[in-house]
Amino acid sequence: MDRKDNGEMIYLDNAATTRTAPEVVEAMLPYFTEYYGNAGSIYGLGSESKKALLGARETIAGTLGAETNEIYFTAGGSESDNWALKAVFEAWQDKGRHIITSKIEHHAVLHTCEYLEKMGAQITYLDVDAEGIVDLLQLERAIRPDTVLISVMAANNEVGTIQPVKEIGAIAAAHGILFHTDAVQAYGHLLIDVKECHIDLLSASAHKFNGPKGVGFLYIGQKARIRPLIHGGQQERGRRAGTENVPGIVGMAAAAKRAYENPEERAKKERLLRDYLIGRIEELVPDVTLNGHRTRRLPNNVNFSFAGMEGETILIMLDMAGICASAGSACTSGATDPSHVLLAMGLSKEQARGSVRFSLSEENTIAELDLVAEELARIVERVRGLMKIC
Ligand SMILES: *Cc1c(COP(=O)(O)O)cnc(C)c1O
Repeated sequence: MDRKDNGEMIYLDNAATTRTAPEVVEAMLPYFTEYYGNAGSIYGLGSESKKALLGARETIAGTLGAETNEIYFTAGGSESDNWALKAVFEAWQDKGRHIITSKIEHHAVLHTCEYLEKMGAQITYLDVDAEGIVDLLQLERAIRPDTVLISVMAANNEVGTIQPVKEIGAIAAAHGILFHTDAVQAYGHLLIDVKECHIDLLSASAHKFNGPKGVGFLYIGQKARIRPLIHGGQQERGRRAGTENVPGIVGMAAAAKRAYENPEERAKKERLLRDYLIGRIEELVPDVTLNGHRTRRLPNNVNFSFAGMEGETILIMLDMAGICASAGSACTSGATDPSHVLLAMGLSKEQARGSVRFSLSEENTIAELDLVAEELARIVERVRGLMKIC
């Protein structure tokens, strides 16, 4: 409690959003106050913005093994997911209206699929196993002559499970089907080569890797015939109109550069912290189950179910102790619906409701994680004690 009064908190919700890195803010500032010209204008001030956009495109393309003209700037992950699905569906109707996705996608994909079903799409939702990995055999069997798109996320936002992206891409390519991956949790944290993995479309969002909020990109490979998202001017090669968010895009590129400067070292550090927290919680708190795959998970993701408890209760009590965590995803917190991801993995509603996600950053310390595990043990003992009457 004292820590919170001092304004010191322990932030373990990096899957919801991250702190914008100081060097990212630094890189953005001149594009608000000094180089504010419209990138579409011909005078010198505008060309500074144009140059910055080209540089950002080059930086981001370089991190993915993509070409600069395959990167399209958007307003974030949700927009990129919506664009990929809706625009592929529209553009490929002559071939078919069948889309394959998984049951554990982010709502930006799932709710778009529901919308497309109303527009006449047929969607197959793949199952996942107990650890949250899609079944490749089921994927293979789900493919039909009228399948136009496979959309499977690279890494899950709730349980951190990393999907067999390369294998899925190979299957899609062998059948001549486009492959979209929601890489919002993976990009900036894992190494992805779009060509090697046969990825045709990839969504990412800057605020998930220490960039600013409200900016992201969609990688669109040459093969992917796709309709424009926003009609208007000629920005983004006529596919996404609107004056570019130059400071945001510059910030995203700075964040991408930072993320991919030393990715292995950062991931190693995070994995160490992750496994330390998993170990401490298993040691100190009775009746807990780790959700997701033990090793094949994002380097910063920890997700536990606490038997007989509500995740919400734990979160409120953690908050009182100055600890920020989350129940599943930011989008479902506040709602009492159990996580669709955990249900798809075969957990009961009670187990799913009793889950808490801790998403770390390399800035967390062992001392912080010790405090978190000890606080959790106290909370669980207190709440379980209250429920037991004899
Ligand atoms: C956060 C997130 C999104 C949405 O990204 P926004 O930039 O917040 O719109 C989509 N997919 C996944 C997996 C995410 O984690």
